[in-house]
Amino acid sequence: MFDWLIVGAGFAGSVLAERIASQRHESVLLIDRRNHIGGNAYDCYDEAGILVHRYGPHIFHTNARSIIDYLSQFTEWRPYEHRVLSSVDGKLLPIPINLDTINRLYDLELTPEQLEEFFASRRETVEEVRTAEDVVVSTVGRELYEKFFRGYTRKQWGVDPAQLSKSVTARVPTRTNRDDRYFGDTFQNMPAGGYTRMFQRMLDNPRIKIMLQTDYREIRDKIPFQRMIYTGPIDEYFDWSLGRLPYRSLRFEHATLDCEQFQPVAVVNYPQTENYTRITEYKHLTGQQSPKTSLTYEFPTDIGDPYYPVPRAENEALYKRYEALAAACSDVWFVGRLATYRYYNMDQVVGQALATFARIQQSLPATGTV
Ligand code: FAD
Ligand code: UDP
Repeated sequence: MFDWLIVGAGFAGSVLAERIASQRHESVLLIDRRNHIGGNAYDCYDEAGILVHRYGPHIFHTNARSIIDYLSQFTEWRPYEHRVLSSVDGKLLPIPINLDTINRLYDLELTPEQLEEFFASRRETVEEVRTAEDVVVSTVGRELYEKFFRGYTRKQWGVDPAQLSKSVTARVPTRTNRDDRYFGDTFQNMPAGGYTRMFQRMLDNPRIKIMLQTDYREIRDKIPFQRMIYTGPIDEYFDWSLGRLPYRSLRFEHATLDCEQFQPVAVVNYPQTENYTRITEYKHLTGQQSPKTSLTYEFPTDIGDPYYPVPRAENEALYKRYEALAAACSDVWFVGRLATYRYYNMDQVVGQALATFARIQQSLPATGTV
């Protein structure tokens, strides 16, 4: 009999397994249907010996001291500030849109003050900013929206930005200075030995047993446990009884080239051309030296593993109905990007898992022995 069954060995499940085993001294069976731990943050060495991310580029960034302190128990960090270029009108331009983006796109020499005026003259008045389109046209105007956002978003999500909630494009800021970093957070670093190494250290506890290639459905009636944490898709947990929640998927094409460097930065976005959204070159993220280089192309699709909840009002409404079912399940906690249907970054999932642990501590006396 395990004290806890934890379904999913990504950030949500692994943080909770670590906390429960180390702080409550209770036994945990951690399962994942994949053949590895780490969830979507999993990284590994490919045939060329290059550290790659199997599920696309994962860059760690946060403003939360408590999350940095927590994860720093399991990894050292390598400084890395993410910079992205966007292939627009035949040029590679910095995204988020900033002073250099506009000056290089239009061959101008605007100052930050002049760029403010430039945006002011182009932005559209939107009564209530509701959609992913509204956010961009009300900030930089329609032309830049069409060039940098519309095509990318249609590829990525399979619907027009006008049908997605504002939170999607609000993730990408607009700047009038020359700051070309993708994220504005105070802490931007990569785990020095990679994500998988960090997860291994987190889960290195005799109270945690790990079973891979094991689906919850196969074992739920066979293995006894007291309580459960579930981090898979919430609609699947309830056998899709209220209908399917849409999750967007990606098909990853990995390639290794016989050259030292393929592109000038880790990620290049393709909002206007190609069927893929972006190309990632991992050596920029890790600082690894090699005469070869490895890349990942991302092709968005509806079929395949669930990666992204799709932020739209109607999906949120359906999620709320599942959330009500979840609230009625005693001794089951739903945590993470798939189980709470939130477009969360890694640090937010760690924060959510730590907050869940605090609630567990408040509501349940620990039963384990030191
Ligand atoms: P997951 O990592 O999805 O883990 C859930 C696990 O549960 C999976 O391993 C799955 O196999 C398992 N599972 C599900 N159902 C079952 C079942 N029935 N039985 C057994 N196992 C099951 N965040 C950032 O902060 N920075 C980034 O740069 C970044 N880039 C990203 C790029 C891509 C392409 C994607 C898809 C996401 C990115 N993210 C990024 C987000 C990040 O991946 C997530 O925030 C984080 O991994 C979510 O952790 P999780 O534990 O909630 O879910
Ligand atoms: N986006 C875009 N063009 C870009 C970058 C982002 O249209 O060059 C939009 C797109 O809808 C994307 C969203 O902004 O899904 C959020 O971007 P982010 O880079 O945060 O996506 P993620 O890394 O989570 O896939």
